[in-house]
Amino acid sequence: RKENFVKKGANNKFIVATTSLAGCFGCHMSLLDIDTDIVDVLEIVEFNKSPLTDIKKFSKRCDVGLIEGGCANSENIEVLKEFRKKCDILIAFGECAIMGGIPAMRNFVPLKECLEEAYINGLTSEIGANIIPNHEDIPKLLNNVYPCNEIVKIDYYIPGCPPDANHIWKVVKNILLNEEYSITHEEFKYD
Ligand code: SF4
Repeated sequence: RKENFVKKGANNKFIVATTSLAGCFGCHMSLLDIDTDIVDVLEIVEFNKSPLTDIKKFSKRCDVGLIEGGCANSENIEVLKEFRKKCDILIAFGECAIMGGIPAMRNFVPLKECLEEAYINGLTSEIGANIIPNHEDIPKLLNNVYPCNEIVKIDYYIPGCPPDANHIWKVVKNILLNEEYSITHEEFKYD
């Protein structure tokens, strides 16, 4: 896919936002695994809403949104839809975002049973506990965990669990700079 991006950030940089939905945050940890190469990334990228910056709300439209994790609750859906609205390109990175991953293992068990196991019958539940938390401030769990592309259109996918850090940034950079790229088999990483 060829795009002509207009850099919208300060110093003519591309603007990137990231979020972690129903995942383990491992994909975001991997983002930081490029160590000092982050300096090269920062030469062309400015981060907006992201756990990396602790910016909670979009302050401008973004060139790229990187999504970790699938959708397990109502808040995940809201955040993902907002990313689709505010970002020109959405990239699902990691297996949880692409196909639900580990959290989607609960799709084989009815939600009621999952909650009873977690809060009432589980080995670590308090003896005599019989309450499943249910407050209006707690996002509602969905019956299933959904991969991102079942909720909004996703433009690119970066497989792995977590994907290799250099692989992630190589893909993002190549998309932004409109360069041809290919990924070698060795770059796919599943720990
Ligand atoms: Fe964690 Fe793997 Fe899911 Fe990334 S893909 S959030 S590393 S379980």
